[in-house]
Amino acid sequence: MSLPLNEEHILLVKAWKKFGEEAQLQVLEEECAELIQAISKLRRGKIRFGKVIEEVVDVDLCIAQFRLFNKGILWNQYHDAKVKRLKELIGDFKL
Ligand SMILES: [Mg+2]
Repeated sequence: MSLPLNEEHILLVKAWKKFGEEAQLQVLEEECAELIQAISKLRRGKIRFGKVIEEVVDVDLCIAQFRLFNKGILWNQYHDAKVKRLKELIGDFKL
């Protein structure tokens, strides 16, 4: 089930407000750990790639909530610096 973007946005806001920042940060922490474990198991051939995607989606939804309530000047500064650094690493690589 994929919700229209506005519905999903509202759902993410409700989740953050209902459970609170501390709880949602803990969920993000746990989901990151699950993703790390899934990647490790994939490399050892213990799970299928779909499980990694599932865990990436979990982390993505947590980050989407975090971003809604923490996007600001500091976010933009870090984002711009990271994109600049990536651009430097890529250099003149051609597709
Ligand atoms: Mg998970």
